[in-house]
Amino acid sequence: MKYADLHVHTCYSDSTFSPEEVVEYAGKEGLAAIAICDHDSTDGIEPSMKAGAALGIEVIPSIELTVERPDTEVHILGYFIDWKKEWFQDKLKEIRNFRIDRMNKMIGKLKAMDIEVDADEVFKLAAGGSVGRPHLARVMVNAGKVKTLKEAFNKYIGYSKPCYVSRIKLSPQDVIGMVLEADGVPVLAHSKLMGKDEYIPKLIDYGLKGIEVYHTEHNASAVKRYEKLANDYNLLITGGSDCHGMNKGKALIGTVKVPYELVDKLREESLKIRHDRQKFFIPPR
Ligand code: AMP
Ligand code: FE
Ligand code: FE
Ligand code: ZN
Repeated sequence: MKYADLHVHTCYSDSTFSPEEVVEYAGKEGLAAIAICDHDSTDGIEPSMKAGAALGIEVIPSIELTVERPDTEVHILGYFIDWKKEWFQDKLKEIRNFRIDRMNKMIGKLKAMDIEVDADEVFKLAAGGSVGRPHLARVMVNAGKVKTLKEAFNKYIGYSKPCYVSRIKLSPQDVIGMVLEADGVPVLAHSKLMGKDEYIPKLIDYGLKGIEVYHTEHNASAVKRYEKLANDYNLLITGGSDCHGMNKGKALIGTVKVPYELVDKLREESLKIRHDRQKFFIPPR
């Protein structure tokens, strides 16, 4: 039986693993395929594909985009995206540039609380990819400002904590539309963490095609609930570990996986999305 872990990050967003390390771990876990789903960046895709080709591991080009709302966060995964489109890269660049401004603002807020953080260290960890709070938290730990990543979030940079700054404002329509226009299959990530099941029908109206039913943070009852929801709405069921390297304490890759046939279903759906767009004469950007 072949398996795939459909939710993996690299150091081009907030994982501690390089693409090569991700692929090496995937190989040790015996995975046939992995989806590289960095936040707001596709830079980890090609190096992962290159490393994957050497080990016979398929890399599914993917993305994770975030909608920030006052009551929750909606994370949308996009599978089999045509990531090389220029407009798509321009949009990601805009989102990442906003992250850079935001990071400088958060560092400013920390400074106002007499917590000095070296911005260069933070950006160095981000390796030119998407800079995020996990990078900031790691620098805070390394500099002895807090003992653990958790403490950094709980005291300073968690949502609604004093040094938190919002990300770029995007709507669910924006991010689902962005994935669809790049021929990607939009899937709701870790639905339980969103915690707003009542939003799901609206997301489907906007073009959502699947739900991440299996996830590290989903217990048996969550799996059951989202499996039923997916079946009721005729959505694809996906699953992945959401591996962030060692940021979550251990390498989770392969601890959540789905049968490989799901990969073929996602590929078919992506082809259908492209075909439908051409059929309805929606011009590619
Ligand atoms: P950012 O995109 O910069 O807002 O960072 C979001 C990332 O921070 C998430 O993907 C998680 O990996 C991590 N994160 C968010 N909240 C917490 C928390 N309370 N404790 C630890 N990590 C967190
Ligand atoms: Fe993350
Ligand atoms: Fe997420
Ligand atoms: Zn993720």
